[in-house]
Amino acid sequence: MKRRPKPPLRPAGGFDRLGWLAGARRVRSPNADARPAGVAVTLVVVHGISLPPGRFGGDAIARLFTNRLDPAAHPSFRAIADLRVSAHFLIRRDGAMVQFVAAGDRAWHAGTSQWRGRERCNDYSIGIELEGTDERPYTARQYARLAQVVRRLAARWPIADVAGHSDVAPGRKTDPGPSFDRARLARLLGRAAAARVAVAGDKGGPGPAPPSGL
Ligand SMILES: [Zn+2]
Repeated sequence: MKRRPKPPLRPAGGFDRLGWLAGARRVRSPNADARPAGVAVTLVVVHGISLPPGRFGGDAIARLFTNRLDPAAHPSFRAIADLRVSAHFLIRRDGAMVQFVAAGDRAWHAGTSQWRGRERCNDYSIGIELEGTDERPYTARQYARLAQVVRRLAARWPIADVAGHSDVAPGRKTDPGPSFDRARLARLLGRAAAARVAVAGDKGGPGPAPPSGL
């Protein structure tokens, strides 16, 4: 593989000029393009994924996002191997981050979608995949990492909302599923960030301050 040029400039909020996050493993996906001119990044879409479904670890997700998934490797891969999809980030069960698309670019994660009456969420969103299933609880390390990356994104882009894929594509998508604890994410984001970033479906609302130590 050809070496890419070093990321320019110092990370601001952990991101370089193009939107690559320091500390995340970089696996560049070809399934991305430029965002429409003049469109601000205001939304984070949280997804859940595991390949094969319910199995964690391995490289199948990275293979899917880089068009290298072997359709013969698992019966469930046949139907998805030809998809051209990506997300900006994957947060693994242990909290490790993989980045596939620069945050400044458009990843292909939401599909046909709508948020607050606006269509084509990919244009103005960041897609973050949590390795998991709709039913099994996501890990503490995943919540901590997700809160951290949302805070960093919000320091750089005018992020207003965090929504689930199921919120922007209701009836079509169920991820990140009932196992995704929205109130927990809102708590972890903290009052300062939560004042600006709303977590869709968080029944706790802005609420009282979290107890110290959280
Ligand atoms: Zn999804």
